[in-house]
Amino acid sequence: MSHRPKWWRRLAVPVSVLLLSGGLAAPARAGGPTPTVVDTARGHGDVVSPVFCLWGDHVREHPEVVRRIAAEGQVLCNHSMHHDDLSVLTPEQIRADLVETSALIRRAVPHARIPYFRAPYGSWGQTPQVAVELGMQPLGWRLAITDWEPPGTDVLVQRLRDGITPGAVVLLHDGGGDRSQTVEAVDRIIPELRAQGWRFTLPRRRG
Ligand SMILES: [Zn+2]
Repeated sequence: MSHRPKWWRRLAVPVSVLLLSGGLAAPARAGGPTPTVVDTARGHGDVVSPVFCLWGDHVREHPEVVRRIAAEGQVLCNHSMHHDDLSVLTPEQIRADLVETSALIRRAVPHARIPYFRAPYGSWGQTPQVAVELGMQPLGWRLAITDWEPPGTDVLVQRLRDGITPGAVVLLHDGGGDRSQTVEAVDRIIPELRAQGWRFTLPRRRG
């Protein structure tokens, strides 16, 4: 059923699932991660540790969703205030943006741990150094399944099946539009991969 080499299937390999808020294709009218994705993550709670990358604008609109994510033990990631391209900013400007975002998250969830930062569009510029100074690990990804242009759940499941590799961080999208295909794809692929011996964990901390 899989063209993957057999040893991959036998190996218990770490895979991180990354869910992030905010739409690339659709304006973020509803904003923020949808409760549906939080539910899906919780449904596989003991085996999956998604990281939710939040924009400050969405956190301000939907602090209750942030509280749910944190209350259910999921992990938070700073994804900037407005999803701007931060590569054109100075370190001081970047710092102001990241500090404001984290402060909003902590207004919703006092003392929240925010171990990761992800640059909008993967446009890093000088953000990695600033993020590290603020105690956050810059978080890249290896597999994106282009779920912001939903091609149908079957296609998304197949892209996950074909594209996942040991240690890969997988980029999925939540919020900013109808994400039901992503939710269904996650719900289907996790049991399948689990049955093959895959494990899901948090992205490795560097250094
Ligand atoms: Zn983004």
